[in-house]
Amino acid sequence: MRGMAGFRRFVYNFGLEMLKASWGFEGIKASDSVRLNEIKKVFTNHVMTLPEYAWTRNYSSTIYQSAFQDLGEAVARWRKGLSEFPILATKKKGDKFSLYKANAVYPKKGEPALLFTNRVVIEPGRKINLPGYGTVRSLELVNYYYSSQTFTVTRTADKWFVSSNIDANRVPPIIHKVEKVGIDLGIKTFATLSDSSTISAPSSLKKAKTKLSKEQWRNRNKQFGNRNKGVRASLNAKKFFESVARKHLKIANIRRDFLQKTTTLISKKYYTIRVEDLNVSGMVANHKLAEAISSLGLYEFRRMLDYKQSHYGTELEVVDRWYPSSKTCSRCGHVQNMKLSERVFNCGACSFSIDRDLNAAINLEKGDNHLAKPKEKKSIKKSRKKKAS
Ligand SMILES: [Zn+2]
Repeated sequence: MRGMAGFRRFVYNFGLEMLKASWGFEGIKASDSVRLNEIKKVFTNHVMTLPEYAWTRNYSSTIYQSAFQDLGEAVARWRKGLSEFPILATKKKGDKFSLYKANAVYPKKGEPALLFTNRVVIEPGRKINLPGYGTVRSLELVNYYYSSQTFTVTRTADKWFVSSNIDANRVPPIIHKVEKVGIDLGIKTFATLSDSSTISAPSSLKKAKTKLSKEQWRNRNKQFGNRNKGVRASLNAKKFFESVARKHLKIANIRRDFLQKTTTLISKKYYTIRVEDLNVSGMVANHKLAEAISSLGLYEFRRMLDYKQSHYGTELEVVDRWYPSSKTCSRCGHVQNMKLSERVFNCGACSFSIDRDLNAAINLEKGDNHLAKPKEKKSIKKSRKKKAS
């Protein structure tokens, strides 16, 4: 599999270098996709026939076809200003390649996908047949029958993952039990809902983070290597880097799992979901707070609620950042100053006493007149485009 990933890197970099070189010739007027198509022909009809590149014929042709496709998409994204100019693929950035079943026939509307030829059927169990490679055993159990065409294999921290698009029916519209909810996101309690339920980050996340920081502390005196000084990392340092990478992966997996499950539960139960605008510039001033927020995945939480709107028919509403949700009394509307350390809201006007986060969540639920306008997509940065070309 590392060989296949190496093949993909080779093709991707070949295509990228040739594309850049082709821009140097004046008088050629052709779009990127036309250029890449010609480059692909050179690769197939010339490069692959050379004896020194005979090894490229050992691998499935779908790997290089999809490498060219990836490259085309990366260049197109850059042209639109959505990402930086594509860089060369390196071993350091991890292994990745895609395999697909050629000549797949797509089902017509309303027809079940499984009837169609040239698609890979994944059966319940642990075996996945990668087209052009063979059967691999997965650690995770597949529960149902799926059919798919393209499989992307990646390696992160010495673990191999396979992902693919599957054919599935849309989730049928569901009835939400509760009409509206306000959610206050925080550091002490991950989420406080206006119906006074709370969601805490899993304890396994904290454990995994502690393990990581302990390991980093224990290995603080290792010879880490410094390219500028010409010092190489010691063998034990390399082992340590691998172990750290595995622990980072574990933390990321726990967090993603937690966020996916909670956002799905919320999207199934509540129809209108109201959250606060996470004030980015305000938080940069407070590094510790900013770090806690990004490491908890508060942005990711909101992003998931956002895209799950179309899956579950929910409405996500953002309350504008100037609405003082934690400084307002949720009973009488009196506004008073609240320090970050104050955990209980004691109203100075009506002497109402309530948990700080719950008070904020109720205010978010009530904040009909403080909704933020929907965000506009980031505009294209022209300066970046110029620099890269
Ligand atoms: Zn009050």
